[in-house]
Formats: sequence, structure tokens, C-alpha cells
Amino acid sequence: MKNSIHIQGNIFCEPCKDCGSRPVIEQRKSAFIVRCPKDSTHYQTKPGLIDIEDWNLKNRVHTSLGAKSVAPSKEAS
Ligand SMILES: [Zn+2]
Repeated sequence: MKNSIHIQGNIFCEPCKDCGSRPVIEQRKSAFIVRCPKDSTHYQTKPGLIDIEDWNLKNRVHTSLGAKSVAPSKEAS
């Protein structure tokens, strides 16, 4: 795969939830995509700035159902 950039080892990345691969950054023109190196049908972020946070969010195995925010609910009390 051309134009892919390895993410430095000191940056935390969730492994791909489908195959467990460490993501890479792909450069397309002036945009960057965080994606699975193995398969383009696995999750990839939208082209733009490098968004490892979005990748991590989407590849976290236990996402709460319907949660749009990672902030803890304030309605729990
Ligand atoms: Zn994958």
C-alpha cells in the first residue's frame, strides 16, 4: 500500500476491531485517513486531519449502545 505512514509506537491506537491490526495513516492528496492496513473495507476515518481519536472510538470493542458522547451520563443520579 503506497502513501501509508506508520503511527509512532508511543501513540496509543486501538487495534482494528475486525482483524486486530495496528492502524496506519494513509495520505490522499492533502488529506489523511487513519485506516486498517489489511483491508479497505474495515473502518477508516474520514479524509482530513489525522483523527486517531475517532479511530479509537470506532474500534473500541465495547461501545455503549447509542452513545454519541464519551462523557459519563449526568442523569445517573
Ligand atoms: Zn482490519
